[in-house]
Amino acid sequence: MSEPQREQRPSDDETRRQALLLIHERLLGEYGEPTPKSQMAPLDEVVFTILSQNTTDTNRDRAWAGMWREFDSWRSVAAAPVSRISKAIEAGGLHRTKAQRIKDLLGRVREERGDYEMDYLRDMDMQSARMELGRFKGLGAKSINCVLLFSLGQPAFPVDTHVHRILRRVGLVETRDLSRANREIQADVPDEIAYPLHMNIIRHGREVCSAQRPECWRCCIEDLCGFEEKRLESR
Ligand code: SF4
Repeated sequence: MSEPQREQRPSDDETRRQALLLIHERLLGEYGEPTPKSQMAPLDEVVFTILSQNTTDTNRDRAWAGMWREFDSWRSVAAAPVSRISKAIEAGGLHRTKAQRIKDLLGRVREERGDYEMDYLRDMDMQSARMELGRFKGLGAKSINCVLLFSLGQPAFPVDTHVHRILRRVGLVETRDLSRANREIQADVPDEIAYPLHMNIIRHGREVCSAQRPECWRCCIEDLCGFEEKRLESR
């Protein structure tokens, strides 16, 4: 007599993976393929992500522009006192902390690599590059994922505030801790959808699923979402 077949139950990871694929397809239907971002050099992207921390894209861009109005190379940034770097990037907020981080980072890269560049990261696999970036102070899990995805073309999945909010509302992430969310979701995001899913969730967060007033009545993933405070009528 043959053994009775055990019921095949998908693991939580597989369920989450399937849910992410479904959300990806819905968002793709709504917003299309996101335009590829132009890739920055790894060191540029690292500093760019430091400037992105705890601020808006607009203010990050103002800080980046301010830095390049004041300086003409990484060498000149590294040679400047923290106060001058801080002044140049002040539009981005937390400028003193960020200026110190940038100066420390540049000093360490120069000391270890002999130049102001981090192109060696391009030759590493994702796990090695992740560990390498983790050695630098001020680079948390989200910042590292941004560098991996945007500069190194690796299938990392940065969880920023928009992505975090939506994944929590949908029920795919429980933790309120952004760093932990960044670590927990990685293995479940299929490589091929990491970039478009990240970009389209951010767009969805900006256009439909805002923090205060989500427009659930016109949300293309409403039936997949477990948020208890859905706003199903436009008012
Ligand atoms: S149903 Fe509402 S809360 Fe859920 S993802 Fe859509 S807009 Fe956000």
